[in-house]
Amino acid sequence: MSQSPRTVMVTGASGYIAGWIVKYLLEAGHTVHGTVRDPDKASSVAHLHRMAEASPGTLKLFKADLLDADSFDAPMQGCDVLMHTASPFVLDGFTDANEALVRPAVEGTRNVLNAANRCETLKRVVLTSSVASVYGDGTDMKGKSAFTEADWNTSSSVNHNPYQYSKVAAEREAWKIHDAQSRWDLVTINPGMVYGPSLTNASSSASIGTLLDMGRGKLKTGVPDLVYGVVDVRDVAEAHLLGAFTAEASGRYLLVSESVSMLGIARLLRQQFGSHYPFPKMKVPKPLVWLFGPMMGPVTRKFISRNIGYPVRFDNSRSKALGIQYRSVSETLKDHFEQVLEDGLVRRRTA
Ligand code: NAP
Repeated sequence: MSQSPRTVMVTGASGYIAGWIVKYLLEAGHTVHGTVRDPDKASSVAHLHRMAEASPGTLKLFKADLLDADSFDAPMQGCDVLMHTASPFVLDGFTDANEALVRPAVEGTRNVLNAANRCETLKRVVLTSSVASVYGDGTDMKGKSAFTEADWNTSSSVNHNPYQYSKVAAEREAWKIHDAQSRWDLVTINPGMVYGPSLTNASSSASIGTLLDMGRGKLKTGVPDLVYGVVDVRDVAEAHLLGAFTAEASGRYLLVSESVSMLGIARLLRQQFGSHYPFPKMKVPKPLVWLFGPMMGPVTRKFISRNIGYPVRFDNSRSKALGIQYRSVSETLKDHFEQVLEDGLVRRRTA
């Protein structure tokens, strides 16, 4: 995809997905205004500076926090495109879901888009939304053959699936602000569970945690019968660029390569890396997950009842028409696990 150099703001530039977005933008010669909470924190931003040195594009980092309404005006100056990726993606480690997830996601989106309304040069906004904004529980399929961009998550709340709720509430807020003006248009990228190599080891993205749990043996006794739509992080980044630079792009784009169960993920990893790694081999029966799941991780019995054993499927034809050529999940997992071994995050084992 070639286009004239633009100035693109990327919120949450230190993140897992944003790393690849920034890399592709810099490689294509664009100027990136990246926002991070702490531009001086080398562990979060060193990889971005290294990319900039190796690319024709230019990187400028700005300090901004989702809850600081004024912090987005300076980085937005002179930008044609805004990519809003920043949003907390954590599933545990908090007591107040509203403060940890919903408020930063929704208020943050409002703060960023209000700054967009004050920036005369801005023409296109690409929002990193999620399939979480399309559905909340597996039971939401209710006889559908697949979720499409026409579906909205109506089953989540701050008390049930708060991360999913934070995403749908933030996307709805974005459409509301978009509809009240006419200078910039909005494209949303709605990825499934993202895997694939990370350019940073500092991200707390739940994507990275799951693969580490598999490789370190935390799940070796078995996994619940949960199915996700999975997509490669590099395809998600590519979709952001296509969404930004394709004039006719509009509306929502579901980004899912294939639906895969947790056991299916373990099988694909075992095929590539061998059974000497402690990848799970068994499904844990639903009644056992129901009994013990809430004691072992951030899941509730309501989540278990409505998700385990309910496969989900997605219609990805719209994103393919935009130009996405999906990597297979097998390739994604191979490259991702190779990277965590390479980085020493999981101990390399020999047969
Ligand atoms: P990530 O690595 O944790 O990135 C999240 C980013 O949000 C980080 O850069 C973080 O900045 C920033 N952030 C969080 N709270 C903030 C705050 N209060 N102020 C400013 N920045 C804040 O996770 P990711 O997986 O790349 O997620 C990026 C986006 O993709 C999120 O919107 C997420 O909901 C969405 N998404 C992810 C997946 C997935 O499977 N990974 C799937 C669908 C959608 P700091 O570095 O300062 O913490």
